[in-house]
Amino acid sequence: MKAVNALRLPPSLPTVLWRGLQRRCPKCGTPGLLHAYLKVTPACSHCGEAYGHFRADDMPPWLTVFIVAHLVMPPMLWLERAYQPDIWLQGIGWSVITLALTLLLLPRCKGAVLSLMWALKAEGSERS
Ligand SMILES: [Zn+2]
Repeated sequence: MKAVNALRLPPSLPTVLWRGLQRRCPKCGTPGLLHAYLKVTPACSHCGEAYGHFRADDMPPWLTVFIVAHLVMPPMLWLERAYQPDIWLQGIGWSVITLALTLLLLPRCKGAVLSLMWALKAEGSERS
């Protein structure tokens, strides 16, 4: 069985990124790359690939802010220009939407960044 696994090609980069967005193991696709919202699982429960030493640092939050800003700003500007709703209504509405999108996308961005690091073998760890 080990010889068969050794001959398998690694997954393609789009596959690895897609698995990361789904918070799945980039190697085998088993769910569980993250636990407790943002904590990295030490190793895959199926294939045993180790992830605990990967350090994504600030990239997932930066990526999340970049995406959320580009999703929220165009409709916010359009709404203001088309209907001029009250400022308090916009403040509450856009805050809720921004917070929800951020909480939804942050673990997915972290999964994608960790998967990309895994694919590039850029561990970002203190390991020598
Ligand atoms: Zn795995």
